[in-house]
Amino acid sequence: MRTSNSNFNLNYILGIIVLVFLIYSIFFYLRLTKNIILSPIPIIMVIASILIYLINRDIVDTAKQTRNIESAKTDFVSLASHQLCTPLSAISWYSEMLLTGDAGELNKEQRKYLETIYRSTKRMVVLVNALLNVSRIDLGTFSIEPETTDIRKIADTVLEELPPLMKKKQLNITRHYDEIPEFSADPNLMKIIFQNILSNSIKYTPEGGNIEVTIEKKGRKLRIIIRDSGCGIPPEQQSRVFQKLFRADNVRRLETDGTGLGLYIVKAIIDYSGGNIWFKSDVGKGTAFYIEFPISGMNKKVGTKRLG
Ligand code: ADP
Repeated sequence: MRTSNSNFNLNYILGIIVLVFLIYSIFFYLRLTKNIILSPIPIIMVIASILIYLINRDIVDTAKQTRNIESAKTDFVSLASHQLCTPLSAISWYSEMLLTGDAGELNKEQRKYLETIYRSTKRMVVLVNALLNVSRIDLGTFSIEPETTDIRKIADTVLEELPPLMKKKQLNITRHYDEIPEFSADPNLMKIIFQNILSNSIKYTPEGGNIEVTIEKKGRKLRIIIRDSGCGIPPEQQSRVFQKLFRADNVRRLETDGTGLGLYIVKAIIDYSGGNIWFKSDVGKGTAFYIEFPISGMNKKVGTKRLG
């Protein structure tokens, strides 16, 4: 919106310049022709002004088209993700029923195939959900609804609800929680933040590694630190960590599961809430994510959709 206004203003200013040049050139031309000397300068000035105006008009048109395409793309992703949710839930639900033996005993081979279908569907549900969240962020339609929240409880719940595969890794998880005064946060969004950062720490830390969750009061800020002893992020790729669809080369080799959308979503939530996120990482040693909010809590944001 801001770009469209500035482009409009630029066009407007250039239009005035062209007009002034034209008037000035006609005036200049008339004065010169009285002396019967024809100068090319006013003509060059008029042509140059018209050219500048036309080029700028093209730039504005291209920018407008790009914006329209971006918005159409986001609308399409939103619609497609929404439509995919229902059939995916059905596949996931029915394969779960088959796996639990609701339609009779399965032989070994049938179970193996069905487990693959179930796992892949679950991955697809995660991807579609992330895409839906991204489109709600990009369209600006998501809401932030702060209420008095105990964020230590949210961190604990997320750790308890981790998928069994992550629990199997035998990681040493420690928690350091300060006594926090009542904090105003959107519990649903805080859960998304913890789920993403914690599941990354767990995914990218080898078996037997360490994860440390700290929630502390730091002056007028509430600070959350999630530190792991995992594979780290290569220094030359660290500037891209919060970009959409980014996955570092070392984790692509190590861990196939991942959408590259989690941290984009987390950063957007934190930015809109008035918070701040950053990290420090050493390859082979580990990564620490830092999140800070003003102690007064998250900013409210009016919107028609909730992130899920
Ligand atoms: P993904 O679904 O791939 O985990 P994210 O957006 O959550 O996507 O993270 C983007 C990328 O940042 C990851 O693919 C990984 O390369 C890197 N990353 C994030 N957290 C960690 C971590 N704790 N340790 C190592 N790399 C990480």
